[in-house]
Amino acid sequence: MRSRLTLEHYLNGIREGNKVVLSQAITLIESQLDSDLIVAEKLIEAVLPMSGNAIRLGITGSPGVGKSTFIESFGNFLTDQNKKVAVLAIDPSSTKTKGSILGDKTRMDDLSKHPFAFIRPTASGSALGGVADRTRETILLCEAAGFKIIIIETVGVGQSEIAVRSMVDFFLLLMLAGAGDELQGIKKGIMEMADGIVITKADHDNKIRASQAHADFQHALHLFQLADSGWTPQVLISSAFEKTGIQETWTMIEAHQTLIKSNGYFLKNRQDQNLLWFNECYELSLRSTLTKNHIKLKKELEKRIIENKITPIQASKVLVEKALANLAKTST
Ligand code: GDP
Repeated sequence: MRSRLTLEHYLNGIREGNKVVLSQAITLIESQLDSDLIVAEKLIEAVLPMSGNAIRLGITGSPGVGKSTFIESFGNFLTDQNKKVAVLAIDPSSTKTKGSILGDKTRMDDLSKHPFAFIRPTASGSALGGVADRTRETILLCEAAGFKIIIIETVGVGQSEIAVRSMVDFFLLLMLAGAGDELQGIKKGIMEMADGIVITKADHDNKIRASQAHADFQHALHLFQLADSGWTPQVLISSAFEKTGIQETWTMIEAHQTLIKSNGYFLKNRQDQNLLWFNECYELSLRSTLTKNHIKLKKELEKRIIENKITPIQASKVLVEKALANLAKTST
């Protein structure tokens, strides 16, 4: 069993930028134990004033598009300039197989050894949309530990993009040249959310296809409405192997930051994201408070739904009414 560490231990370590303590702190906030929850909440509150000043970058793309290779090159480029980079790789563990897409593949091996880099794979757990339950808190911890660019990597296989989009300043979509949109499983909606698209693996035989794809994507983006940020999404070409398009990607992200900081969107977006976070937390805790003592009833209702004996609407009404009645009883 993990020995209990004090709030001071976590706080001091984070202040010093100690990666081991940062890892321990993330494990703490991901813990489901009630006793850990209390320290975790205090820790988040304590780091809040030290957070908020990193560039938060979401990177998505289908499996195999080259995300980890790209992030490794991009991360190395940043650490070479003495910038501290944290990569939170969201691993959408399959609930069916209990396995994970990322598996035990050694990822970002080179980058992970750099003193200015911190890489943390997080299992997506039970959260809606497959995004790690505690990603937002993890971002705050990394920022408090002095990381200036926080990359949240997600696999473009579902709703996780929407969740990640709601935590970042810049959302980058990686695409392959030559494969149709359908083949890549990328829906128009995801392209619409992107602030930038990078066409990956633009090397060797792929170079010509990449520049064709560049024109196609640029054309497609022009058909979308102007984003609230006032930013016009850009399309770039990169080869992580040849380290091309890496500097350009950073220049694009910096230009975006400059724009949104000057036009007020940066602050407004972070405020909106906080309100969304509040609403999500509120709904989750409301639901868990209500159902906490009614697990048995919930199971029974689920069984009756499967047997077609009750509609889902009716069942949820029964559960809420029962829970509210009990709550009223206990509070009198
Ligand atoms: P992920 O699943 O999106 O994280 O993709 P990976 O980064 O694991 O890359 C998938 C495959 O594409 C691997 O075999 C990589 O070696 C290869 N790959 C990644 N980046 C490049 C690149 O820039 N050029 C070429 N030719 N292959 C690449």
